[in-house]
Amino acid sequence: MDAKSIRRTFLEFFQSKQHAIVPSAPLVIKNDPTLMFTNAGMNQFKDYFLGNKAAEDTRVADTQKCLRVSGKHNDLEEVGIDTYHHTMFEMLGNWSFGDYFKKEAIEWGWELLTEVYGLPKDRLYVTVFEGDDTDGTELDQEAIDIWKGLIDEKRIIPANKKDNFWEMGETGPCGPCSEIHIDLRNDEERAKHDGLALVNEDHPLVVEIWNLVFMQFNRKADGSLVSLPNKHIDTGMGFERLCMAIQKKESNYDTDVFQPMIQFLAAKSGKAYGENEKTDIAIRVISDHIRAISFAIADGQLPSNNKAGYVIRRILRRAVRYGYTFLDFNKPFMYELVDILSDQFEETFPEIISQRDFIKKVVMQEESAFLRTLEKGLVILQKAMDASDKVIDGKEAFTLYDTFGFPLDLTELIASENGFSVDTAGFDAAMKEQKDRARAASASEKGDWIDVNDGDSVEFLGYDALESDASILRYREV
Ligand code: ATP
Ligand code: MG
Ligand code: MG
Ligand code: MG
Repeated sequence: MDAKSIRRTFLEFFQSKQHAIVPSAPLVIKNDPTLMFTNAGMNQFKDYFLGNKAAEDTRVADTQKCLRVSGKHNDLEEVGIDTYHHTMFEMLGNWSFGDYFKKEAIEWGWELLTEVYGLPKDRLYVTVFEGDDTDGTELDQEAIDIWKGLIDEKRIIPANKKDNFWEMGETGPCGPCSEIHIDLRNDEERAKHDGLALVNEDHPLVVEIWNLVFMQFNRKADGSLVSLPNKHIDTGMGFERLCMAIQKKESNYDTDVFQPMIQFLAAKSGKAYGENEKTDIAIRVISDHIRAISFAIADGQLPSNNKAGYVIRRILRRAVRYGYTFLDFNKPFMYELVDILSDQFEETFPEIISQRDFIKKVVMQEESAFLRTLEKGLVILQKAMDASDKVIDGKEAFTLYDTFGFPLDLTELIASENGFSVDTAGFDAAMKEQKDRARAASASEKGDWIDVNDGDSVEFLGYDALESDASILRYREV
C-alpha cells in the first residue's frame, strides 16, 4: 500500500465510523503565547477539552501537520540520527468530544491496524497506565479488560506516568493513555527473545506508532482528580511510522514518503544511500528538514532573525551545512526538493503546490546567502578547535553567529561531531555586550533612528538569547 492510500484509508475508516473529516490546523501558530508550532493533533481542539467551546461535531478525524523542534517536544537532535523521529510529520488522529470512549477507541484502532492494514498481531504490543501511588492515579483496569479481548495478555504492558498519563498542564483535563508499539525486528531476532522489554526503550525497531489518550479526569488546583462529566478521546498516530510498518520497512526513510527525495539526493551527490553512515545521516536530515521548511513557508512563516522565523532559518542552515560537509553540495540544492514534495502532497496539502515557485525562491535565496559565509565560517571554527582544548571559546562562537550566520546550535553540532563543546556562557556574554552597545548607540542616534524592540515575551526554550537579540532592529524614520 502506498503512502497516499494509507492516509486515505485512515480517513475513510473513521468516516465510516461517523467521523467528520476536518482540515489540518496550520503548522505555524499565530497568537498563542504558549506554543509556536503545532506539535500534536489535539492542539486545535484544546478548547473543547477545556470546556471553553462546544464541538460542532462530536467525532472528528484528520491528518495534522506537526513540528517538534522546540519547547516540551523537541526531537531535532534525534532527526536523521535515528530513523523514526522527524521535525515535521503528519499525525493521524481521531477524536471523540464527549461521545464514544475507551471501548470504541481501542477496538477501532485495533480493527484498523490488524484487519484493514493487515499488520501482524504478533508484532504488536500495547501499553496501559500502571497507576501512581504518589498522585492518586490508578491502574487502568478498564483498558486492560478491553485489550484482553483483542490481544494476547502477555502483550499488554503496564507503563509509567511519563509515557502513559497525559496532562494538559498542572491542572485541567487529563487521563491515562494506551499506546500501540510495533516490533519490526526480523524473525530470527524475534525468535531469540520477544520485544516486551524493548518497548519505550528507544530501540530503533520497536517503535511506538499510536497513542490513544483517554481524557477522563480533571486535575484540580489541590492536585486531586475528579471525574470529567464528559469524557473524551484524543489519538495520535505517526503517519510516516505507520507507512514504515505497513510497507515492512525498518526505517521511515525507506518508505515512499522519503524515498523520492533520498534517491534524488543520492543521485545528485553521487553518494549511494545505505553505504556510509555519515552521508546517510546527511541525506536523511536534508530530506526531513526540507519538509519542515517548505510547510512553514507555505503557512506564511518565512525564515527570519527571530522567533518562529529563526527556528526555520536554523533548520535550513543545519541542512545546508550537512549537504556542504558530507555531500559536497556547494551550490543551492534544497530548493530542488520542493518539486518532489509538492507532487507528493498535491492531494492532502495543496498549499505546497500552489506556492511551489515562491517556496523554491525563498529556499534558494536562503541557501545562497548562507553558502556565501559557510565556508569561511567553517575555517574559523576549525581554527578555534585547533587552538583550544575541547571547548570552543564563546566569543568565537558569537563571531560565527554574528558575522557568518552560524546559529549557536549549529556550532554546537559541528563541535560535538569533533568531540568539542561550546562555551555557551561566553557566547551569551558576548551577545549581551553587543546588545548593550547597540542600545547605547541607538540612544545617541535618537534623531534619525528609532528602536523597534518587539518586547513580546514568547517563551522559547533553546535559544532565548538569540531571539531576544535579533529582535532589536533599527529603522530609519520616514
Ligand atoms: P516517541 O516516544 O517515539 O518520541 P511520543 O510519545 O513523543 O513518541 P506522542 O506525543 O504520543 O509521541 O505522539 C503521537 C504519535 O506521533 C506517536 O505515537 C508517534 O507515532 C508520532 N510521533 C511523535 N513524535 C514524532 C516525531 N518526531 N516524528 C514522527 N512521528 C512522531
Ligand atoms: Mg517523543
Ligand atoms: Mg512515547
Ligand atoms: Mg506517545
